[in-house]
Amino acid sequence: MLTGRILLIVDGPAALAHTPALLAGLRSAGRFRVTAAATRSAEMFLPLMALSALAGAPAKAYSELTDDDWRQADVVLLAPVSGHFLTELAAGGAWARLTDNGRRRVLAAPARLEAEDAAVAPLPDAVEVIPSAGSILALGAMGAVATAAPEACIEAIGTALTPPDFAGQTVLLTAGPTVEDADPARFISNRSTGRMGAALAKIAARRGARVIFVHGPMSWPVPQAPAIRAIAVRSAEEMCNAVLAEIPHASVAILCAAVADYTPVAYSREKIKKGTAATFSLQLKRTPDILATVGALDQKPFLVGFAAETQDLTANAAAKLRQKHCDMLCANDITEPGCGFAVPTNRLTVLFADGRREDLPLLAKEEVAAKVLDLVRREMNSSQ
Ligand code: C5P
Repeated sequence: MLTGRILLIVDGPAALAHTPALLAGLRSAGRFRVTAAATRSAEMFLPLMALSALAGAPAKAYSELTDDDWRQADVVLLAPVSGHFLTELAAGGAWARLTDNGRRRVLAAPARLEAEDAAVAPLPDAVEVIPSAGSILALGAMGAVATAAPEACIEAIGTALTPPDFAGQTVLLTAGPTVEDADPARFISNRSTGRMGAALAKIAARRGARVIFVHGPMSWPVPQAPAIRAIAVRSAEEMCNAVLAEIPHASVAILCAAVADYTPVAYSREKIKKGTAATFSLQLKRTPDILATVGALDQKPFLVGFAAETQDLTANAAAKLRQKHCDMLCANDITEPGCGFAVPTNRLTVLFADGRREDLPLLAKEEVAAKVLDLVRREMNSSQ
């Protein structure tokens, strides 16, 4: 659970569209104490009364911030902030005040009208810019503004407040279902949403890892952070090719995609017509087993598999761990309430190559992800 004190400074008309989503997202991302302050140009669009209601605490005019407000913040977030305001800050020598506390992180999400020149005053090294990464906010008659999405700002806060114990590691993840097309209208797939993999990507990135996120068609948002490189695939074969192309870069691979075991033998370019017979058969063939393929490589990263089981959980999972040459295998019983597909929680039994096992409690998927990464870190440290 993320915790900390945040000083949020909002500036310009973009606050009208950005700030409500940012503050709502912060409430569900952790337990933060937020002091929100608006510059005069933000106040015209988002009055302090509205900002206070959204923040759940009295908001202030920017000019009324006290030394204590600055000193107590773990993170100062300038989002959204106009180039004009940043230039004035730099000219006024306020950078010293922003960055005087070695512990504090300063994050800035510059916002500029799409038509505007991108030039922003040079920022001191201590200020981290959250890139807009193509995110555009529509402001009605005022036009559109390019600025980092609220979710990207929340992830930047998460990273700033989390010790980087995965710095220097590259984590390759597979997530979501694969989709095996039979004809232009039909496919075979499964109930995976990709939520467990998305949680792993998010938490690994917060902890300083570079993440390569190979995912099938997700019904959960693909996590956005500068450290996450997402590669979208559709079929098991495409996922396998993407994983094999990326695996040489990875120091850790966590393969939690629900890969289809079978795919149609042939793809029909025309929609398959229904016949008069009461039954119909579609011939299927096995897909490549990506985890087993990676497990058989000579040079392989620390390898973690997942196993969704409906019976004999531990015995089946232990057999998979051996057959696929994993270092760690996370098993869950998908018939248990609160476990598996399309639910916000999961309960894992984690098995290790030397026969040890650890039972984790029922937790939110982000907390499960953090525990899995704790175990990966511990095992990697102990084998060094
Ligand atoms: O054998 P089973 O499908 O239960 O194994 C589950 C584990 O194997 C998961 O980690 C899953 O991502 C991986 N897997 C795979 N390629 C397949 C089937 C499963 O990587 N074709």
